[in-house]
Amino acid sequence: MKSTLLCILSTLLIVTVQAGDFRAASAQVEITPKAGTPMAGYYRFRGVGSVLDPLYAKTIVMEQDGRHAALVVLDIAYTSKPLVDAARRAIQAQCGIEGDHVMISATHTHTGPTLPRGNMMDTLTKADSPSGLAFADTLPGRIAQSVSEAKARLAPVTPAFAVGDGTGISFNRRVLKEGSTEALWQPSKFDPATMRPAGPVDPEIGVLVFSSSGAESKPVACLLNFAMHPTSVGGGDKISADYPGVFTKLVSERHGPDMIAVFANGCCGNTNPNDYFTGTRRKHLEIGALLADATDAAWKNLKPLKPFAPRVLSTRVTLPRRSFSDAQIGQAKDVAARMITKNLGTVPMAEAVCILETVAKQNEPLVVEVQVIAFSEESAIVALPGEIFVELGLALKKASPFKHTIIAELANGSIGYVPDSAAYPQGNYEVVSARCAQGSGEMLVEAALKLLKQAAQR
Ligand SMILES: [Zn+2]
Repeated sequence: MKSTLLCILSTLLIVTVQAGDFRAASAQVEITPKAGTPMAGYYRFRGVGSVLDPLYAKTIVMEQDGRHAALVVLDIAYTSKPLVDAARRAIQAQCGIEGDHVMISATHTHTGPTLPRGNMMDTLTKADSPSGLAFADTLPGRIAQSVSEAKARLAPVTPAFAVGDGTGISFNRRVLKEGSTEALWQPSKFDPATMRPAGPVDPEIGVLVFSSSGAESKPVACLLNFAMHPTSVGGGDKISADYPGVFTKLVSERHGPDMIAVFANGCCGNTNPNDYFTGTRRKHLEIGALLADATDAAWKNLKPLKPFAPRVLSTRVTLPRRSFSDAQIGQAKDVAARMITKNLGTVPMAEAVCILETVAKQNEPLVVEVQVIAFSEESAIVALPGEIFVELGLALKKASPFKHTIIAELANGSIGYVPDSAAYPQGNYEVVSARCAQGSGEMLVEAALKLLKQAAQR
């Protein structure tokens, strides 16, 4: 009798492990910085004055058969490797989720706190001042707390995907003038007769929704994906999550008050909310509402996905650094000496910071991480480590073996701008401030595709 019971119990146990439910949950922890904390987004110091809307670390945890994947998005301008390493250690210690099963990205809000980067920007923005360092020190613990809370809520779910149409919301901010091979950057005047955008935009809004299983199914977590710079609040001293904050709040209010909507920014290195054709500059409230309306329209098209235990794959890629002539280095030193006290313009200042950082780190390999979380037959999430040009994102999505590929940029660290190869000869802001040499973006796409193919086959 006893042995029969044991036998039944062990059989049940085996059945449970083999056919575990796919579970997911979300959580958020506020990360709004204190007054006076140095802000990111510009080449000068701005201390936090007031708070327009709060900032969060938002997390979605997925699990099946004991295999976890955690996706965290921070309402900050970028992630850094030291931050990601510290957060992963804290998550592993507190939540038992392996550090390399964690993806941490940033929305790229330009009205959030800054983080130390180990270059001149730390001096200009005071990122390494006591209040800057104090904020950075609190982040890993808050990230781990959000993962811990999401993990504690894990429950069986069904994931579903829809694609929203965000046409007309984002604009390529690089422009080519007839007869010139050099790109203009964010032109204040656009002449449609002689000018055209230098590249495309990605109008897709990825909408991934996890709904609780059972008779009273309701959305419990949602990942939204769109590629556009959050630069619509402005250069004052007010803290704001920019349009991603408005967008996610509206989607939660409209589709599930208990659901946390998380926004991962896509490959938006060269896409902005400003319409250079008409001069229209939308503010964050309007942009968030437009994206939420487009998501509403897509919601009825949500198609269930066939989930499996999360497959998390990562690889390290060593990218070539750019090289500079002695004349360029000399000029950068001159600009750097004067820009501490004077605004010399975004492009020359960005170039000087980049050149001097590259010279200082020329013997240090530029190693970055590319990561994939696959969790269903139809959909996977890719993490890329910088501000990736939209052309690269479109190419990656097109070549992906998954029907729906979400890309989170500024993830697991950031090396700044990553233009596509065609943009390098056209120059201007993103190119002159890129740490990586021509061809690097395509190397990242290739590395991501390799991981996606492995994840699709296993
Ligand atoms: Zn940017």
